[in-house]
Amino acid sequence: MAERITGHTELIGLFAYPIRHSGSPAMHNEAFAHLGLDYAYLAFEVDNDTLEDAVKGLRAMKMVGANISMPNKIQVCSYLDRLSLAAELCGAVNTIVNEDGVLTGHITDGTGYMRALEDNGFDVIGKKMTIVGSGGAASAIQVQAALDGVAEISVFNIRDKFWGNAEAMVQKINEKTDCRVTLYDLADLDQLKAEMADSCLFTNATGVGMKPMEGQTYIPDASFFRPDLIVTDVIYSPAETRLLQMAKEAGCRTMNGMGMLLFQGAAAFELWTGKEMPIAHMKEVLGI
Ligand code: NAD
Repeated sequence: MAERITGHTELIGLFAYPIRHSGSPAMHNEAFAHLGLDYAYLAFEVDNDTLEDAVKGLRAMKMVGANISMPNKIQVCSYLDRLSLAAELCGAVNTIVNEDGVLTGHITDGTGYMRALEDNGFDVIGKKMTIVGSGGAASAIQVQAALDGVAEISVFNIRDKFWGNAEAMVQKINEKTDCRVTLYDLADLDQLKAEMADSCLFTNATGVGMKPMEGQTYIPDASFFRPDLIVTDVIYSPAETRLLQMAKEAGCRTMNGMGMLLFQGAAAFELWTGKEMPIAHMKEVLGI
């Protein structure tokens, strides 16, 4: 008889659409099996129209929790009982934890990024960073960096539909944390160069560098880098974006988005199980 799933096995879901391509079910189920934990993680095709029913189902079936991905990360906030401070500031949730029927929303993308920095030995606490982007990934990073004690953040964005979000996010972080955040237009490349020169870390938190913008970067030339600047990208496919290639050639230490992906999962795993994800084993399995 197969023993992996029994009457006691606890369920954790992933509510998103499209979702069949996701690596999260394999990652979490591998970690459960490795630690001998009696949980199963399954992906469900849930969009904005079915999200409220899915959350009600989670509660009714006493599921341990769920991951939430696009297009549901913002809308799900209205169906939960509580939000973590980071989730409240971001206005978005990627992890639900069910504690005796009380549903709390967390956002672990920013925690994932900060833990990945730490894992690489990159220390930005009390220092200044420059980041490009004001979408979901960028907002989560900015909020968590500010909560974790980064002293100053310079945010750059193009004047597209995300500009309003960028303004709101910067204002919120300045009001609610001790971090000093300033927003600049990415069209001002002289300003970008000056802010990068004054920062210990630069990160790309946009899709520039992955399909359909693979091979591209908004950094015009190598004079924007110096060997002691840490350069990171949230993109993990390709593993090395044009930005990271240029930064490496200039002698910078670099990090791609794979660590952020792993550690956002690890943070959610810990919230559900109270156990640390077996990071060394997961890195081996994921080949990172
Ligand atoms: P989003 O759509 O919410 O935000 C996109 C951002 O890119 C916005 O700030 C937008 O202004 C900016 N942008 C778009 N086109 C641009 C251009 N031509 N030049 C400059 N800026 C431009 O997207 P998101 O969910 O924040 O995802 C952004 C990237 O982060 C994607 O590549 C995604 O794969 C990656 N990501 C990685 C992780 C991880 O765990 N490593 C997690 C989430 C997202």
